[in-house]
Amino acid sequence: MFSPLLAQLVEHLKCLPGVGTKSAQRMAIYLLQRNRQGGLKLAASLESALKEIQHCERCQTFSEHALCRLCADNRRNSSQLCVVETPADVIAIEQTNSYRGLYFVLMGYISPIDGIGPNEIGIPKLLQLVQAEAIEEVILATNATVEGDATAHFIANALKNQNASCTRIAHGVPIDGELGYLDTGTIARAFKARLPLHG
Ligand SMILES: [Zn+2]
Repeated sequence: MFSPLLAQLVEHLKCLPGVGTKSAQRMAIYLLQRNRQGGLKLAASLESALKEIQHCERCQTFSEHALCRLCADNRRNSSQLCVVETPADVIAIEQTNSYRGLYFVLMGYISPIDGIGPNEIGIPKLLQLVQAEAIEEVILATNATVEGDATAHFIANALKNQNASCTRIAHGVPIDGELGYLDTGTIARAFKARLPLHG
């Protein structure tokens, strides 16, 4: 390689998911040739984010403070707790502007094959939180995958003897979705989760 530093940059860019040698080369050359300012900002931002961001003490999501912004916001409805798998799910739900409660972020799901059990995703902490904060409703919003469902069931079971009610978000036909194009699992679930229109 004509430039060891370029070779090193390419090598390090490959730590990103889905980035192989070719795309890493393209990124490195783009930054050097067309966007050095952007590259420097990226480097600075990577450094400060990776050094400073830890986990929120209460909900486990990413935060550079002991409590994340949502947990620290006393205008949120503290009687509702929505359980999700990742911080990306929190962002997606927040964008809908339809939920004003608080969150608990598992940072994963139960997966015995990978050695991830209830302790690894903070279930004991979740149970403690539900009890300590007198949560009225726990909304299980884990993904509609085998692992997400299993995790939701595990949590629902663990919460059985607590006062909080446990709900699971409905999954089903997407807006503008045509039945003929959906997989059978989605259609079956949509039928199960149907709601009365009257009476
Ligand atoms: Zn938090």
